[in-house]
Amino acid sequence: MAKVTGPRTVQCYLCRHRFEVSRRAKSTSCPGCHKAVIVEDFILKKNKSSLLMVTPVQTCGRIVIPRRTRVVAKLVEAHGGIEVLGHMDAQQVISGQLTVIGDKAHWKGNLKSPTVVIHERAVIEGGYFEVPDDSLELSTLPKAGEQPEPTLEPKPKATVKAGVTPKPRLRPKPQAKTKPRPKPNAETEQPVVKKTAPKRRRPPPKDTS
Ligand SMILES: [Zn+2]
Repeated sequence: MAKVTGPRTVQCYLCRHRFEVSRRAKSTSCPGCHKAVIVEDFILKKNKSSLLMVTPVQTCGRIVIPRRTRVVAKLVEAHGGIEVLGHMDAQQVISGQLTVIGDKAHWKGNLKSPTVVIHERAVIEGGYFEVPDDSLELSTLPKAGEQPEPTLEPKPKATVKAGVTPKPRLRPKPQAKTKPRPKPNAETEQPVVKKTAPKRRRPPPKDTS
């Protein structure tokens, strides 16, 4: 069990105050607005009854929606990222990290996410995608340890990656409001600078004419 321990920094989705919580915390009281804030991951159970909500679904953690489960909500906000294999039906979805719309997943709703991966056989029924988006400025949230591994599919086939705008079927995407940021894993793929012997410079070709 190589679990990351120690507190982690979260950002309140109500007042955007940042504070540390224990890694095992499920909910806490925000020191900024003194309201109850959920920080746990929402991982729906496979093949169990649907999660139906008309209220906001908000957490500082992740939301995982497996096949045959459904989330219906006005607002879905997950600072830790979102994985959908079932049905997502929301007016607005805000993901603080990677959003995966998996194979045969159904998606309806506007999305704001720094990165999105849409599988080929995902069904996008509608929505206005703003990617990359960091309107919550979660990219500056200190991260302890690495990103969580995908729960549903270890190796998603990426068809859309950060910096690439997916094509919503209903509405065209206007100009991106934010600058595209490098892929999240870009820091691990730094260009290798090889130290080689300096190239011999050829003398400029002499004009013999
Ligand atoms: Zn707060």
